[in-house]
Amino acid sequence: MQPNALPITPAQAFQPFYSNKPVIGLTGGIGSGKTAVSDWFATQGITIVDADVVAHQIMQPGSRTLDKLVKTLGSWVIDSAGYMDRAAVREHVFKNNKALLTLEAITHPAIRQEIKAQLAAAASVYVILSAPLLLESAEAGLVSLCDRILVVDVPEALQLERASRRDTQSRDNIAAIMANQLSRVARNQQADDIVSNASDLASLYAQLQPLHERYLMLEKSFEVRR
Ligand code: ATP
Repeated sequence: MQPNALPITPAQAFQPFYSNKPVIGLTGGIGSGKTAVSDWFATQGITIVDADVVAHQIMQPGSRTLDKLVKTLGSWVIDSAGYMDRAAVREHVFKNNKALLTLEAITHPAIRQEIKAQLAAAASVYVILSAPLLLESAEAGLVSLCDRILVVDVPEALQLERASRRDTQSRDNIAAIMANQLSRVARNQQADDIVSNASDLASLYAQLQPLHERYLMLEKSFEVRR
């Protein structure tokens, strides 16, 4: 031991290094209302770690992960300004399952590592980890970082209507994305907590308030979810 190092207590030795605060995994299908939910938690002073934001952060020009992708797939993956050409990469992996696996093998560990760092740095009593594919993307291993899973549930017809009203994408595209995501039933089965976003935002927020109060009282769990 270093001369001034504090001894590690048994409890500390058990703590996963990435976070000593409860982590609530927030998920739901496209257009279900995850942003509406995470925005509400943010107004309560809760730190939000967003997997989509992290996925962009790790692919900044000059980042190790983007360099690795260029070396593996070719220089066509970046545009003239050095940014990842997301449309080109999306189209490439859509048609080529091997390329998708390669992309995931490069990006998932980097996303997970950055998410762990952000969870560790979070200052609030608990943290929300928002990830659209939390339950779909088992190999990204994000579920194992969560103490509880909160699902935003919405009937599929309403989901399609809201997402297509918001996005420039066609209803057919949104329906195709929904078909690639977990079914409503399968997602809800894996939830510890479910909020319904089938009505207005006031009704959504009314369900979030008691959950927030419960989460404030949560103990950090040290069991690894699978
Ligand atoms: P994505 O995964 O596609 O980014 P999301 O799950 O984050 O979507 P939101 O962006 O929160 O979903 O909501 C989708 C759209 O539906 C937005 O335009 C939002 O303003 C709208 N919306 C969300 N909740 C409600 C509600 N209760 N009533 C009416 N509109 C809503």
